[in-house]
Amino acid sequence: MASSVVNKTAHAFDKGRLDALLNRRFFFAPAFEIYGGVAGLYDYGPPGSSLQANIIAEWRRHFIIEEHMLELDTTIMTPAPVFEASGHVARFADWMVKDTKTGDVLRADHLVKGVLEARLAGDKEARGLAGAAADAEKDAKRKKKSKTAATPSAVKLDDAVVKEYESILAQLDNYSGPELGQLCRKHAITNPDTGNEVGEPQQFNLMFASSIGPTGQHPGYLRPETAQGHFLNFSRLLEFNNGRVPFASAHIGRAFRNEISPRAGLLRVREFTMAEIEHYVDPEDKSHARFGEVRNVRLALLDRHIQAAGETTIQHMTVGEAVDKGVIANATLGYFLARIYLFLVKIGITPERLRFRQHMSNEMAHYAADCWDAEIQNSSGWTECVGCADRAAYDLSVHTARTGHQLVVRQALKEPIVTERAVPEFNKKNFGKTFGKDTAAVQLAVTNMNEEQLLKAKGELEQGSTTVVSTDGREHKLTPDLLSIERKTFKQSIREFTPNVIEPSFGLGRILYILLEHTFWCREQDIERGVLSLPPAVAPTKVLIVPLSAKEEFDPLVQEVSTKLRRAGVFSRVDDSNTSIGKRYARNDELGTPFGLTLDFASVQNRTMTLRERDTTQQLIGDIDAVITIVTELVQGTIDWPAACKRLPAYDGVQAVD
Ligand code: AMP
Repeated sequence: MASSVVNKTAHAFDKGRLDALLNRRFFFAPAFEIYGGVAGLYDYGPPGSSLQANIIAEWRRHFIIEEHMLELDTTIMTPAPVFEASGHVARFADWMVKDTKTGDVLRADHLVKGVLEARLAGDKEARGLAGAAADAEKDAKRKKKSKTAATPSAVKLDDAVVKEYESILAQLDNYSGPELGQLCRKHAITNPDTGNEVGEPQQFNLMFASSIGPTGQHPGYLRPETAQGHFLNFSRLLEFNNGRVPFASAHIGRAFRNEISPRAGLLRVREFTMAEIEHYVDPEDKSHARFGEVRNVRLALLDRHIQAAGETTIQHMTVGEAVDKGVIANATLGYFLARIYLFLVKIGITPERLRFRQHMSNEMAHYAADCWDAEIQNSSGWTECVGCADRAAYDLSVHTARTGHQLVVRQALKEPIVTERAVPEFNKKNFGKTFGKDTAAVQLAVTNMNEEQLLKAKGELEQGSTTVVSTDGREHKLTPDLLSIERKTFKQSIREFTPNVIEPSFGLGRILYILLEHTFWCREQDIERGVLSLPPAVAPTKVLIVPLSAKEEFDPLVQEVSTKLRRAGVFSRVDDSNTSIGKRYARNDELGTPFGLTLDFASVQNRTMTLRERDTTQQLIGDIDAVITIVTELVQGTIDWPAACKRLPAYDGVQAVD
């Protein structure tokens, strides 16, 4: 048997080749293409849709089923008051700049990033660092289509300037709009397409506005995230969970963001599928019952202090260590970061290209206690694919304040809390007689007194009288026939609190695209043969059935094998096209199909078939039923290929391959 060692890095990653494959095999394509397309809108074709569905299925298994989360499906169209309360109407915006001559619109932070990165690449080229020229050229080619990325020219920069640019890039997400404007002026950053200056950054709200009903009097928005749908249903969810926290709700659904100038394929789109979790915890106890299971998961962390110092040095540490040292704010947040890591690696993301970056102070919402992004490295750098924030009590509190509906937890206390308090009691009749229309104001002055003031007044009343000051500054004399103050005992058996929310938020399109980059490679001996090494769990088709030819004599066997696979829950396809078996396999390597079954004349005579593994192209042979059992286990992930090789003999015969 050929060696099972496969060299997947014989050819450098070539985005052009991958993009051509994805387009040719219709993983996804620009929406409304025959009308000229719209930036940031894409349709998924058959393999892309299956891949997305399989990623979602894995996500549901990994999070919803594993953790008994409460699943939701809430509406996309949302009335305006919801986003007014949540802060989206005021703040869900990016900074844009306009070309002062053409009026072209660019996203301010992307402009700064593209120009400074291009200058640094030009500097590298000028310095002639090993490989840098080639990298820069490749970079330039790759970014040719991107308007905000300037093509680098080989200009050497001062060392201090290089350091300054690197420092700016390390904290790019921390700059406000005016600061981005200053950077453009200070570093002469102009529109790379035209060379024209750009104006002052202005905020652009990313929500798509709409209106509900025919009158136009009820403004609404397409939701930019699913989160509000969770929060608004909190009381029902809590009741469903028998009134107890912690628990989590989960939602997979579409979100809409009117991105300023999306030019990064699936990485930045205007309509996309999100998978979001809102985990509700007691603010006084953010431990997690299952933290022990993930304590030893090692993560690559880029904390806020390192970034603020203008660096990008990664620290590797276990989640346990990070929580113990206070790098990650609490155990529940740490638990989710580890679970996010495990999910991404399970579906095929390369662990070495995955890091968790902490938000810097300006970048983080003011109410958030801590926030980390799972960033995955790809051909356009490090891209945020999952955000994971401790949002404290913000969301539930703002909706409570706006609606008056108490989004709180009421917990019966094991031990009632007994307290003593001074309580004022008014003699209403005498009060009215003495103070007339000032009655309410004087009573308010008393009820506003704190414990210490009440006790002082009590002592004074015992001496004859006390004086209070109403809000208009007037003094009022009070005597025991008007007011008495008594110490009373109170027993509290219910604790009421607004839970805090830990929110992992996934953008599935970004993960899907980067997964395709991470799993794409070309065979060493044949650069034309692209392969997607998708794990069986997410591969669109699990098994390809390849009859030697389309002759009718193979039909009963093809039927039998595909029925048996279907019954075993394995999704297969038949390729009986009129081309060589080798070509058929190559075509399906492009689709990431992990296993192939070949039926030939020997199959008809002896009831045997061969089993091929995509990455190694090794083949095994066995009785049809034995092979079906093994391929089913391979697809379910209960055995791996080396284990299969121990159970079936290698097939070295002259197969019917070209
Ligand atoms: P956010 O609510 O901005 O933290 O976004 C949550 C997740 O949604 C991100 O981690 C991304 O994976 C994804 N996402 C946000 N904006 C876009 C976009 N324009 N296109 C694709 N995915 C996006």
